[in-house]
Amino acid sequence: MINPILDVDILGQVHELVTRAQNIVITCHKSPDGDAIGASLALCRVLRAMGKRTDVVVPDTVPRTLHFLPMMRDVTVFTKAELRAKHLIEQADIIFCLDFNSMSRIDKLGALINESQAPRVLIDHHLGPDRSAYAVLISYPEASSTCELVYRLLCEVGYAHLIDEPVAECLYVGIMTDTGNFTYSSSNPELYEIVANLMTYGIDKEQLYKLAMNTFSADSVRLQGYALSEKMQIFADKGMALITLTKEELAHFHYRKGDTEGLVNKPLAIPEVTRVIFMREDAECIKVSCRSQGNCSVNEICERHFNGGGHRNAAGGDFYGTMDEALDKFFTILSEINND
Ligand code: 5GP
Ligand code: MN
Repeated sequence: MINPILDVDILGQVHELVTRAQNIVITCHKSPDGDAIGASLALCRVLRAMGKRTDVVVPDTVPRTLHFLPMMRDVTVFTKAELRAKHLIEQADIIFCLDFNSMSRIDKLGALINESQAPRVLIDHHLGPDRSAYAVLISYPEASSTCELVYRLLCEVGYAHLIDEPVAECLYVGIMTDTGNFTYSSSNPELYEIVANLMTYGIDKEQLYKLAMNTFSADSVRLQGYALSEKMQIFADKGMALITLTKEELAHFHYRKGDTEGLVNKPLAIPEVTRVIFMREDAECIKVSCRSQGNCSVNEICERHFNGGGHRNAAGGDFYGTMDEALDKFFTILSEINND
């Protein structure tokens, strides 16, 4: 049985806000992943089915591997269409904020949303939400994904009859990608009841796995092979693995956004590795991505050293400086680690 988890007052507030709204904007974190975009599109489709003018506005581009999702064409990308995004936000009567816990996670789009008077509804599973920024807070760090929370919300608020196959596809993709295809954050038996319900809409889970999690260009498979064979360092006494990729290396493999997806998880296959730090030199900064095993955490490392955060076993942040400086930072972190 799927037990209700949401507070009755919160459900009442969401229903009232939605009933009174004509124009709704949904946004999610930058570099949207399957959970962020899946949750946004699923909620968007349900709200449109209720006759609400609803738009998904994302901070930056969505990786190509997620372009197959239904209604992707309707998504407004802030970095490509600033004026349209501004217009939609100005018109919005409510702004749903999905899969992030603080407005700083959405860059310049956050500043625009901060100017709007529209109440914000947070639906998220990250630790430590910025409570003051939202009129309604649906924050469950124990949930597998924001898509799980959107499914529960739709059922508990009484909109389940509006779930159709495309909505189920979007929600399934978010749950699947955020749990590494049901590897982690997926021990709650109720999650499998939710998945069983989603399956009744006729979704093709094998195809969704192939499209969302196992489609890479030849260049990207080669880049990942190169990163693992030439650029992975293991510090066995600290349980740490490091991978770095510079701009030049990325350019050599014609890097496109999404090409290193999943790479950071690979070193965890090695029994002595409990933490992985992956540093990729992007245009504006060095993107840091971390993963860990069991009780070893990485979110504090990202909060303290990379102005970031995340979950205990999956976190990230940014580093502003050269790769050499980032490496110095890495060795500081390494010296602070007692292999627990
Ligand atoms: P990924 O390594 O897949 O980019 O991110 C893994 C998780 O780390 C995300 O789900 C998110 O919770 C967190 N994360 C990644 N980048 C950042 C960042 O720049 N800031 C914060 N606060 N969290 C991040
Ligand atoms: Mn998520």
